[in-house]
Amino acid sequence: MAASETRKPTSIIIGGGLAGLAAATRSIRHGITPTVLEKRGYLGGRAFSFTDRETGVVVDNGQHIFLGACTNYTDFISEIGARGSIFEQERLDVPALKNGVVSRLGWSRIPGMGMLPSLLRYRHLGMAGKLRVIYGMIRIRLTSRRKNAEALNRQTFRSWLEDRGQNESTIANLWNLIVLPSLNDDIGDVSADAGLMLFQTALMGSGRDAVIGYSRVGLSELAGKHGMAYVTEHDGEIRLNTEVASLWFEGEALRGVRLADGSTLEADTVITAVPHFALGSLLPDGHQSLDSLAIAASLETAPIVGIHIWYDRPILDDPFIAVLDSPLQFIFNVTAIHSDRSGAMEEPDGGQHVVISLSGAWRWAQMERRELEEVFVREMSRAFPAASAEHVTRFLSVKQVDATFRVTPGSNAARLPQKTAIPNLFLAGDWTDTDWPSTMESAVKSGNLAADAAAEHLSR
Ligand SMILES: Cc1cc2nc3c(=O)[nH]c(=O)nc-3n(C[C@H](O)[C@H](O)[C@H](O)COP(=O)(O)OP(=O)(O)OC[C@H]3O[C@@H](n4cnc5c(N)ncnc54)[C@H](O)[C@@H]3O)c2cc1C
Repeated sequence: MAASETRKPTSIIIGGGLAGLAAATRSIRHGITPTVLEKRGYLGGRAFSFTDRETGVVVDNGQHIFLGACTNYTDFISEIGARGSIFEQERLDVPALKNGVVSRLGWSRIPGMGMLPSLLRYRHLGMAGKLRVIYGMIRIRLTSRRKNAEALNRQTFRSWLEDRGQNESTIANLWNLIVLPSLNDDIGDVSADAGLMLFQTALMGSGRDAVIGYSRVGLSELAGKHGMAYVTEHDGEIRLNTEVASLWFEGEALRGVRLADGSTLEADTVITAVPHFALGSLLPDGHQSLDSLAIAASLETAPIVGIHIWYDRPILDDPFIAVLDSPLQFIFNVTAIHSDRSGAMEEPDGGQHVVISLSGAWRWAQMERRELEEVFVREMSRAFPAASAEHVTRFLSVKQVDATFRVTPGSNAARLPQKTAIPNLFLAGDWTDTDWPSTMESAVKSGNLAADAAAEHLSR
């Protein structure tokens, strides 16, 4: 009797992406013993790295960046002991290249000025365009997302901005420069609510919220290796290559999960931390209380393509740069990003490894590697004089077809809360209701919220 009274509560977490790892970490803090079940042979879900066979270099499945406002994510990284492996800018600074001219958007050193001075100096917009953008920013600041939720969820961000004085030039040279990589979709396809969330969160708080950060090490090392160590050192368990077939009920009571090998595993609570499109297959038939979860499947996904090119010489001075009027979008200088780390990620011979990160990449995801090489080696040489084709030493494309869920108008209705009608079943995953778009911050926040809700349930 005494033993069962002191037994620590247990939680099964389905999925070892960032949401699942965050849920496990937060569960440990609540005194709950987590068991993470991950069907793949590695952790990290959609944020992972692998070793390129030819160069032996560790390559991320996609360049991942975060903002200073992503505090759930950075706190999680600190908690698992990996803070030393991430970099954050001191102040926002985004170089943008157009027709050979680089102009920078950034946060002012003068208190209270925010982005205004850099906007006034921004060379890719004329004075009328700058005034339009300033007016648009003021309207964004003055708009309450809560009071206007219904209308903002019906309209696209492009049409919302057009109704507030924005034109093709300001949309192409400023608004979509930020929206496309941040929301992985064109400004004409995302909801006004998602657009406002982005600008209000990133650019209208403190300068700290706006800074850009990234990992200095491969993504699997950052969260996968450190997450595994943290969970197992705190009496949790992580089982790789363990696919969950479905939730396991006895009558109306959720007992645990049924694995793909037919065995069952029992726990006090279950947290699903799988993508929205994988939730349905976990739900057994005959439970009406689960019917409302089916709506998650209506979310759509958008692809990201990463074009890695190794050059025998330096091409970029900055760690990253945006390119306007070109298919190049954003280019990251992987060599610089990983430069203070010895080992596989350094370029030993003075060369440079860059990755072109293509968001909303439906067109590119369909192309063969050969075609991609032709297009992007040519575009790089057009944009950067040093990047001519004869200096290319290796080319690699990485396609992630279901990289993110889409924040199209109406999509908020499919973003379910972490609590469900089943008292000991909780939902995590970047797609659940966190207010954030499909990001690492959303994934970690969802894991935290689900674990907090599970702890609250267990304390009752
Ligand atoms: C190329 C690319 C670039 C990106 N860039 C950025 C960026 O710059 N900034 C940013 O913030 N975000 C970025 N993202 C998005 C970010 O990676 C995701 O939002 C986040 O990783 C989602 O985490 P998650 O845990 O919610 O889901 P996932 O990472 O998808 O994890 C779900 C896990 O569940 C497992 N699973 C599924 N079904 C089962 C089952 N039946 N049994 C057991 N396990 C199961 C899966 O194998 C997976 O590991 C990018 C994504 C991609 C692909």
